[in-house]
Amino acid sequence: MASVTVIGAGVIGLSTALALQQRGHRVHVIAAASSGSTSGLTSLAAGAVWYPFKVGPVDRVGGRDGWAARTRRWLTELAHSDPSAGVDLLIREELSDSPAIPWWGDASDDLRLQRADTNGPVPVYTWRFTAPRCEPAIFLTWLEALLHQPVERQHVRSFADVPGEIVVNCTGLGSRALANDASVEAVFGQTVIAASDGFDLSLCAGDERFADAVFYVIPRRNEVVLGGCAIPHDAETPAVPTDEISADILARARAKGFHAVRVVRSSAGLRPCRPEVRLERDLHDPRVIHNYGHGGGGYTLAWGCALDVAGLVDASAAGRIGNSTGVPAKF
Ligand SMILES: Cc1cc2nc3c(=O)[nH]c(=O)nc-3n(C[C@H](O)[C@H](O)[C@H](O)COP(=O)(O)OP(=O)(O)OC[C@H]3O[C@@H](n4cnc5c(N)ncnc54)[C@H](O)[C@@H]3O)c2cc1C
Repeated sequence: MASVTVIGAGVIGLSTALALQQRGHRVHVIAAASSGSTSGLTSLAAGAVWYPFKVGPVDRVGGRDGWAARTRRWLTELAHSDPSAGVDLLIREELSDSPAIPWWGDASDDLRLQRADTNGPVPVYTWRFTAPRCEPAIFLTWLEALLHQPVERQHVRSFADVPGEIVVNCTGLGSRALANDASVEAVFGQTVIAASDGFDLSLCAGDERFADAVFYVIPRRNEVVLGGCAIPHDAETPAVPTDEISADILARARAKGFHAVRVVRSSAGLRPCRPEVRLERDLHDPRVIHNYGHGGGGYTLAWGCALDVAGLVDASAAGRIGNSTGVPAKF
């Protein structure tokens, strides 16, 4: 057993902390913002449905036993076993311009081509699969409540200041400064939250065929999330929803047949995008394990990544226990 400090209390930090606690490690979470915060937490702004968007690498995200598949199995199990987790199973229909199985297709066990409309000017293929959806406010609070130690609110400036034999960095966009990693970039996303009347709350839809007109509908238990957009943004400037983008989203919704939308509010957040998720031990400071850069897929990958981090922590702890000098090795 090791004493581990996780930095970050978004979906990645809390899932990682829970996985480590379940393996018997002593876990302490430190975060500048947590589920009660109004800003600084991308996880609260998410539509939070299972779907790999703007995230890589393909070989670790996809596949039958990759991060997305393992997370999907965990969320599906939670949807069946514990309604208080805020996870439900929806049917997702995703439009594509290709009849080829999507790159993440193996991660879903029930993906199938539902329709092929080839009579129009451009062919449109509809893929259908079961997609677990989390209610962010419920799910994050549920995760936090499972931890034996409460989240400590603190901004961390340097890993050297953090206690614990092992430190796991789950700071998302905060890793630009904390891990000195300029490859993490902010990608702005905005949603319109609508009243649920008139929507089928079991059905989720997505269309990302046009990068400048991404569209999705994600029902929650009592409201519906309409999105979206993916626009490069300054990482230091907070995400604020604009009327112009909300109007665009509503126009796209009307074009898809959603006419009588009753808007409740708009919401925005910054996706922590990176060419690839960074999940590895730090080469220069082996006490630190990184787990950040989940782009538009943090909810889709959280548990698979958490299990891999737990594997790295277990290996570190085993190395210490097997150290013949009897002196704890530096992790
Ligand atoms: C509009 C929108 C819709 C989305 N929809 C989906 C979706 O449908 N499905 C999906 O899978 N994903 C979706 N995403 C992406 C998802 O929200 C992110 O991938 C995920 O929230 C990233 O989680 P995180 O824990 O890494 O980051 P965050 O939630 O931002 O958490 C980072 C944590 O680190 C802390 N932190 C940062 N720096 C420091 C520091 N120096 N010291 C201490 N603490 C620090 C913060 O306070 C916070 O607690 C969406 C995103 C947006 C914006």
